[in-house]
Formats: sequence, structure tokens, C-alpha cells
Amino acid sequence: MARKKKDIVLENILIEDYAAEGKSLAKVDGKVIFVEQAVPGDVVDVRLIKNKKDWAEGFPIRYVSYSEERVTPFCSHFGVCGGCQWQMLPYKKQLKYKQKQAADNLERIAKVQLPEIQPIIGAATTQYYRNKIEYTFGTEAFVPKDEFVKLKATDTPNGATSDLAAGFHARGFWSKVVDIQKCYLQKEPTNELRLAIKDFAKENDYSFYNLRSHQGFLRTLLVRLCETGEWMANIMLGHDDKVKREALLDFILQRFPDITSLLYTINTKQNDSIYDLKPEIYYGKGYVIEKLDEFQFKIGPKSFFQTNTQQATRLYQVTRDFAELTGKEVLYDLYCGTGSIGIFCSKEAGLVIGVELIEEAIEDAKQNAMLNGLQNKTQFYAGDVIDICTEKFFTQHGHPDVIITDPPRAGMHGVLIEKINEIAAPVVVYVSCNPATQARDLALLNKKYEVTKVQPVDMFPHTLHIENVVQLKLRK
Ligand code: SAH
Repeated sequence: MARKKKDIVLENILIEDYAAEGKSLAKVDGKVIFVEQAVPGDVVDVRLIKNKKDWAEGFPIRYVSYSEERVTPFCSHFGVCGGCQWQMLPYKKQLKYKQKQAADNLERIAKVQLPEIQPIIGAATTQYYRNKIEYTFGTEAFVPKDEFVKLKATDTPNGATSDLAAGFHARGFWSKVVDIQKCYLQKEPTNELRLAIKDFAKENDYSFYNLRSHQGFLRTLLVRLCETGEWMANIMLGHDDKVKREALLDFILQRFPDITSLLYTINTKQNDSIYDLKPEIYYGKGYVIEKLDEFQFKIGPKSFFQTNTQQATRLYQVTRDFAELTGKEVLYDLYCGTGSIGIFCSKEAGLVIGVELIEEAIEDAKQNAMLNGLQNKTQFYAGDVIDICTEKFFTQHGHPDVIITDPPRAGMHGVLIEKINEIAAPVVVYVSCNPATQARDLALLNKKYEVTKVQPVDMFPHTLHIENVVQLKLRK
């Protein structure tokens, strides 16, 4: 062990297993060391960034030898781009580690009695699976270190050149953009469109947005591409310039005549968030229709929608199966977003009641209900779940037979968990994008509920994300 003050480097460390959140682990003298950017089987020299009594954390400064598990990443931007972090692992191994993480969380954090955890549902399509992508235009193209040494002296230091880039934020460098040639996350014409806009902008002297000075015309490009064949783009501009704007939008329409909606959004704020802005329709109806099973969903430039259509269908099928509906039940869909889970379950339920914080999402949910002819079977309410889901609310709308809950990463609020324990719906289905907070919440629900089924689902191949569906039943 080489040791300077505060600078601890552990040498020749064999990475033994996957831990969680992209970190693997090694054991040195009985102490667990969490290591980023390494996979089981790698032998590395690790520089520690945290060193506690029972555990430490670090990153590799040298790979002594690579794991036999590793495969060559298929994307040329791997490692630099903030996107798919697990391409060095075969998909089967990714699934194995996701399964393990879901199981570890339930065993170590929830500490409740568990049924056998069903094998994770992997994706049939592991590339081109996203229906939504947002690209960023920037003035500082990120250049990886090994390519950077080949650059000429006039280029600016610190891994950046003054070149224009269209792609994704570079990992760990907020102002720099990785200039993407080909992204494997979405079907064509996503790359063709981004490259065409970049070329057009360069040829016609359009400026790209500088993330430090907040100057520049082209900011971001949102592409939504649906299984129905409908697709749309929304271009965010730093200020309005009617002549330049129309020339660009006309060019896109002429070059991509099958686009179904084209929008632009003027954004003079410093951040990219679209929620307080007004997208303008330049061509088409301004939204796309996506389908999950027989249900249709209207998705606008601001709407939330599950980004992997095929796996969302699988996730919702599992959720619907776990709800064990017979056609009569009063079903509550908590954290319902644009109502998609409730609508997906509506044929098998008597009544669906959705609750969601964001008012615009509730508006979308109501429109989605109408689009599917379900206005008489569904009700949607905007507000915080802990304010809406009171004794009075449940009495007014009907005692819940089934509660489906799909909270954000932070999990459920303690007040809601207490309310679920009190209201005692016979079946609860807990859909989670964060198995750690889900496990914490299951421990609290254990007061009244037992875990009866567990089904992890992989929504995002080559990333670290895991979705997990749990069925809970009221103890007799
Ligand atoms: N079930 C939906 C969306 C799940 S994402 C789907 O599958 O598409 C989680 C949702 O919870 C988001 O829409 C978010 O706006 C909402 N949310 C977050 N905190 C909330 C709260 N305190 N009360 C109600 N909804 C909340």
C-alpha cells in the first residue's frame, strides 16, 4: 500500500462483485472498497476518495488487467458521453447485476419476509429503444484526453476546443458537449436530423449556445419518435430571429417530409428547463400519439411519458397482473403522471382514480382518458399525494380495493405510507425506479402488508437504472 498524507492508493486490487449504482466492490483486509468504473474481474490500482472505518470508496488510476467479462463497447462515444455506462458488460451480465441489486436492497434494507424474486424481465431490443432524446448544441466540443494531445496548439486547454458540437453533455464537464456522430439510443432519423441541423447551422453561420456566457441561437433539440410512426422535433432557441428560425425550420420540413410535428421554443433563461416556456407549433398538430397495447397516449413537448415504449408495456403488464383485477375494483393510481398506468388497467377495473402533483400532467391524463373513451371510468386529481389522499377523499371516491403507487426516486412520503397502512386496501402494487427507497418503504408497510411478489424489469439497457414491481397484500 503506497501512502502519502490523505492520498491512499491500493494496488493490485481484484474487483470481486457488483455492488450498486455503477459501483463494484473489492475486499482489502476485511474492509469493503467500492470502486467506480470497474467491473467484477478487473484488477486495478485504486485511489481512495473516501475512507471510513468499515468501508472506503475510490476510482481506478490504473487497470492492471481487464476482466474476462468485458466486451468491446459498440458506441465510439462510450466513456466520454454521459449516456450508456455499462456497454463494457454483455447484456446478460447487466441483467444479472441488476437482479442482484434489487435482491440485495430487499434483503438488506427492507429486511422483510420475501417470496422468491422473479428473474428480471430483460429488453428484447437493447439498442434504439428510446422514444425521446434531447440533444444539446454547444460551443465547447469535448475532446477526450488521448485525442486532445493530437490537437494543434491554438486549441484551448482542459479538454475543450472552440469547436461547435451537437450531442450530449460530457460526463463531469457541465459546459462541454460531446459531438455525437451516431447515438444508438433512438432509431433513425434521430442522428440524421441532428447532423443535418448542425451542418445547416455551420453553413449558414448560425451560432450555437455557449453554456458559460449564455449567448447563442441554437440550444437544444428534442426528438420524440413513436412506435405508431408519428414523430416530432422541438428546437429550443436562445432568442428569436424570425428569418433564421424560419429558414432552419423550412429546411427541416423539406429534408424530413415525413415528420408529423415540428415545434420551436424561445428560451432566454439560463437553464434548459421547458416547464415554464411555451413551445410554438410550426408544422403539424404539435404532439405525437404513442400506443401501449390498445391504449393511445397524446405526448406533447412538455408531457412526461415512459421513454422505452416496449419495456413500458411489459412494466405495465406486470403491474396490471399484480393488481389482480376482476372488473369491479376501485383502483387508485398514485403518482400517476399522465395517467398511463391507470388507463392501461382501466378495462379490468371498475373505477380508476389518479393523483399527481403536476397540473399539466393531470390535464394530459384527462385528455388521454378521453382519447381512449374512458371519461366515465377515470378521475384525475392534481395535488400532493399527502394532501389529496385523506380519509375524506377515500370515503368520497370509494374505499380502495387496489392502490398502485409509482413514486419518484425519493420514494413515498412517510405520511402517505401511514395512510396506506390505515386505509388497508387489500392489494398494493409498488412500482419503483429506485429499489433502495422502495426497500425502505416496504419496511414501513410491513406493519400491515406482506410482500407477495417481486418482479424487476429492465427499462434501460446499458444504463444502471432498475425498475422493480412489488405486490403487497394486507395481512389477514
Ligand atoms: N406513473 C407515471 C409517472 C411516474 S413518475 C408513469 O408511469 O408514467 C412519478 C410522478 O410522481 C411524476 O409525475 C411526479 O410529478 C409525481 N410526483 C412527485 N411528487 C409527488 C407528490 N408529492 N404528490 C403527487 N405526485 C408527485
